[in-house]
Amino acid sequence: SPFSPSESPDQTLARDTIFALSSGAGKAGVAVIRVSGPGVKECLHRMTRRRHSELPADLPKPRRAAIRTLVHPTTGDTLDHALVIFFQGPHSYTGEDVAELHTHGGVAVVRAALDALASLPQFRMADKGEFSRRAFDNDKLDLTSLEGLADLLSAETEVQRKQALRQAEGALYKLCERWRTSMVRSLALVEAVIDFGEDENIEEGVYAQVRDSVYQLAEELRGHLADNRRGEIVRTGIHLAIAGPPNAGKSSFLNLLAQRQVAIVSDQAGTTRDVIESTLDIGGYPVVISDTAGIRESGDTIEMEGVRRAKERLAQADLRLILVDAHALLDGGQVSCHPAATDRLTSTLQHIGIGPVPGSSSAWPVNPDLIVLNKWDLVPPSARPRLLEQLTRHHPLARDGHVVPLSCLSQDGFTALLDRLTGRLRAAFDTADLANPGITQIRHRQHLRGCLEALENFLELEEADVVLAAEELRRAAHCLGQLTGRTGVEQILDALFSQFCIGK
Ligand code: GDP
Repeated sequence: SPFSPSESPDQTLARDTIFALSSGAGKAGVAVIRVSGPGVKECLHRMTRRRHSELPADLPKPRRAAIRTLVHPTTGDTLDHALVIFFQGPHSYTGEDVAELHTHGGVAVVRAALDALASLPQFRMADKGEFSRRAFDNDKLDLTSLEGLADLLSAETEVQRKQALRQAEGALYKLCERWRTSMVRSLALVEAVIDFGEDENIEEGVYAQVRDSVYQLAEELRGHLADNRRGEIVRTGIHLAIAGPPNAGKSSFLNLLAQRQVAIVSDQAGTTRDVIESTLDIGGYPVVISDTAGIRESGDTIEMEGVRRAKERLAQADLRLILVDAHALLDGGQVSCHPAATDRLTSTLQHIGIGPVPGSSSAWPVNPDLIVLNKWDLVPPSARPRLLEQLTRHHPLARDGHVVPLSCLSQDGFTALLDRLTGRLRAAFDTADLANPGITQIRHRQHLRGCLEALENFLELEEADVVLAAEELRRAAHCLGQLTGRTGVEQILDALFSQFCIGK
């Protein structure tokens, strides 16, 4: 019968058939219930009817939507009219037979359908991420694609979504497989050298050929690792530090950021006490801002503490913005002869602990991405061009394009500042290079480093050490295997699937 459970080899373990609500909980227009496992055909046989028919409906053509009446498998009660899609294993998300029941999204409809499914033998509710786990077990997805999928489910901004989607589609997997294939080919050649040695007529220069290919691969891996952790930072959020002297307008600026254009994506308690971390969406980039407004810099000790913390935040941040009071750089409302404004900016920065150490010729300890001249409304219009010109010409940190005038009071200059900020973000964290899928997790980096290390060891060996050389190549390939999930992955899997929601 076409309804007997399918008997592909990977299902001989007589797995349960699992089901879950894959769409969001609560009242909705449509609900999607996903069913996967050996019992799917039987479920469709017992639970679906053609409209106005008492007879079991035939199995819908795979991947085609069919309208069916959903009935309870034992009582025959009509549950709902639904759109049913059948995916025949292995051509499905999980690799098993899968059905999707698109019912009306009412809470009672969904409950009735789930109860009906639960009454079938060997049917049970899916655990978190169990559909994806089956997909992995059936080789439909590798580990990096699964991680991409988990990231896609939690992506909050455009750039995160694009990066996650690329990984979910297998970009990193394909790259690793290309590398691994190359290593395995090299390994095969080296083993041929071991087996046949010089006495057999093995081609001249095979070992040199392998060396060349390993050398190139090592270069490629090195290039990939030298990515300034772009992918990881985009995945977890780009930390922006805002520093400036007391009363420069930092709180006003934060409020402005939070209110205008940039949506607050999430608020959560930061790692440090008294710090609220907000994730903002700036030009599609997830930007994490620590609001330390609670710590007031007044009084000597608190000021020193403030300076210490500001320095620490600047050092750890991915992006640095310094905000000063532009009016305070003026000399009685005017821009006086050349060094004055520049010197004032330097001493302002020194005062908050980020100037060069006085008396030493050492470089500036931080290199801000943007210097914001706040309270621009207080600078007389006639003095504005001159002030900007002086600073960009003469101040070592105020390179052209890095200095942005702003008035938090009137909001003048805010849009221009957001544009600049987006430009800096794009320059530093662009992840759109399709040929170069990013490393998005520390785990990836560790395995790639291990792999590179083995390749470098290989390159240091002489041809006489051919047995050791083979061992290094095997180790290199193994590292990539761990990255994509070919070996030794149980703990990674458990951690990963716990992030999934039920029904995925
Ligand atoms: P913070 O100590 O750096 O956080 O500075 P605040 O945001 O508390 O601002 C200090 C003072 O400057 C407040 O009285 C603000 O209203 C004022 N202020 C902030 N931005 C501007 C601005 O662009 N123009 C003017 N005129 N005043 C501002």
